Amino acid sequence: MLNIKRYLVTAALPYANGPLHIGHLTGAYIPADIYVRYLRLCGEDVKFVCGSDEHGAAITIRAKQEGITPRQIIDKYHEINRRAFAQIGISFDVYHRTSDALHHKTSQEVFKQLFDRGVFTEKETEQYYDEEFKQFLADRYITGTCPRCGNENAYGDQCEKCGSSLSPTDLINPKSTLSGQQPVLKPTRHWYLPMNRYEAWVKNWIEDAQNLEPWKKHVLGQCRSWVEQGLQERAMTRDLDWGVPVPLPGAEGKALYVWLDAPIGYISATKALLPNNWQTYWQDEHTKLVHFIGKDNIVFHCIIFPIILHALGNYTLPVNIPANQFMNLEGDKMSTSRNYAVWLHEYLTHFPGKEDVLRYVLTVNMPEQKDSDFSWADFQARNNNELVAILGNLVNRVLVLMHKYFNGKLPHIPPAARQAIQPQAQEVFTALQTMPKQLHTFIHNYEFRNALNAVMDVARAGNKFLTDTEPWKLYKQQPDETAAILGVCLELVAWLGVYLEPFLPFTAAKIAGFINLGQQDKAAVLQGTYAIAEGTTVNQPELLFEKIDDTAIAAQVQRLAEAKAAYEAAKNPDAAATDATPATEPLETPAEYVAVKELIQYDDFAKLDLRIATVLDAQKVPKADKLLQLTLDLGFEQRTVVSGIAMHYQPEEVVGRQVLLLANLAPRKLRGIDSHGMILMADSRGKLIFVAPDAAATNGSVVS
Ligand SMILES: [Zn+2]
Repeated sequence: MLNIKRYLVTAALPYANGPLHIGHLTGAYIPADIYVRYLRLCGEDVKFVCGSDEHGAAITIRAKQEGITPRQIIDKYHEINRRAFAQIGISFDVYHRTSDALHHKTSQEVFKQLFDRGVFTEKETEQYYDEEFKQFLADRYITGTCPRCGNENAYGDQCEKCGSSLSPTDLINPKSTLSGQQPVLKPTRHWYLPMNRYEAWVKNWIEDAQNLEPWKKHVLGQCRSWVEQGLQERAMTRDLDWGVPVPLPGAEGKALYVWLDAPIGYISATKALLPNNWQTYWQDEHTKLVHFIGKDNIVFHCIIFPIILHALGNYTLPVNIPANQFMNLEGDKMSTSRNYAVWLHEYLTHFPGKEDVLRYVLTVNMPEQKDSDFSWADFQARNNNELVAILGNLVNRVLVLMHKYFNGKLPHIPPAARQAIQPQAQEVFTALQTMPKQLHTFIHNYEFRNALNAVMDVARAGNKFLTDTEPWKLYKQQPDETAAILGVCLELVAWLGVYLEPFLPFTAAKIAGFINLGQQDKAAVLQGTYAIAEGTTVNQPELLFEKIDDTAIAAQVQRLAEAKAAYEAAKNPDAAATDATPATEPLETPAEYVAVKELIQYDDFAKLDLRIATVLDAQKVPKADKLLQLTLDLGFEQRTVVSGIAMHYQPEEVVGRQVLLLANLAPRKLRGIDSHGMILMADSRGKLIFVAPDAAATNGSVVS
């Protein structure tokens, strides 16, 4: 290797079962995007592939929770995530999806090739089965205690706490996520990848790879520890009706294991991008393949997928897998299930035009070697003290002075004036000379925090130069020197317009536009030969960044507090009820009326999903004289809701009524019964009265 002719860069396929948050972005997508944009800037041949991972139990379980089909789930989140990636400037060459026919065909071909080569072993084993749901329980359909770290919520395929790769039978106290019951064992037939046979090969391959390009310490450490523990054979198929069907006779009802088919998604995405030329990127030793992932995916990308590529025979193997660690949020772990995260699509709505601010903060805090933390206070400080005060301020000052003194056009600069400012300008020229080399080294070492800081140091040098030379004091006496100073500054701004592109692409494009930087100028900057020409005109500047005030930050902090409180309340409804305090002091409301709550925005209201439903059945809840257990018909589904109306209505008075249901309230357990929603009642001086449509409405009708 090392005669690199082209790059193939992949970023982990996000599961299409939920939206992206900033932890995902800083873990895999921003680092990959910086790397790719930098390579493109240098004129390298690079392809950047990704797509939605649309198979696996995570999708079917989410579909069950939301009461819709897996297809509806993947269509929804594929679109949300595709759009959010594009808006934040992640510059994939292709964003494919694993539900695509091309992917099904590709992964079936890979499976068949491995099967024909005799790579798999076929075995009948006892596996966990949920008798109530009549289904085998693979991967995320089963949870239990991790035998390695004691995490009580480990999945059947992996413990997300310690990163161990697991089998359902490894779990202590296994529980079905469908019925919540302890599963039974039943025989079933599957195809296994005997990783033990490849142990020696993997070990050598990992060690040899370090001679090409050293991996991150934590990645290498995890891999070595897995190999030392001894590799086990691992089933590559599942009893599932959602996924890529196993392409063998007699394998009906079986699908490929999602972690077999997902990495093959990188190959199908490349095929979709380059139908006639994909082999050049996958089957040529001069291709440098790099997988950007989060640390929870290390085993799949560093051990299992390389074994598969090796077993296929003619595929290129990854040179590096620069997995990042995790980013925390305000000191706590981000969590999709607890809704504790900064969601990308929400950020884009709350901070329009501030895409680069997020890219900046996620880069300077990137968890490259160890876990890092995102806080809104830091976000505000980075924006106000660095982007506004250093970068934005420099560019703005230079352009404003250019217009103030020279009508936006750089005049002739006599050589004597250039010489006069030379001693002070030297620091700037040194910064411009050393930065590209530093940048190159940092990027190729996957040190993106350092890389961005190296570019920001150029902006710092520019500000210092302006402060030291004070052209605003010089102009009246020495207009030539003033022009020479601004000429140096404009050169520096041109460099920023080029070298910021991998990090802050929207800002770089604006800067290039301000100073009319063309393709030839950019090429000259990259070659180190750029010199601003006399007569160059610059446009009127607009502010690149604006200060973010405390109110905007407080609103975000408040959202996180609310998400936490909502989660705690759902977990522990009684405590929440007694602890609840009104958010604002009631204002002169007559004593017999309840005060109106604090104002909300339409967005808050729009989160409520209100539906018409008909009560099919009502039962008293034993030992709870206030509660009725209701079965509701929503048209598309039936569900159970526990309602505190037993003191006001007998069960028989309720059956057949149409009611108004808050349908997306997080489920809560009341007296051991899961309640999925809340019936809305009017409290009329202590008497609860149903709120119902004024004529019969179709069940499931949306109320808004
Ligand atoms: Zn664990």
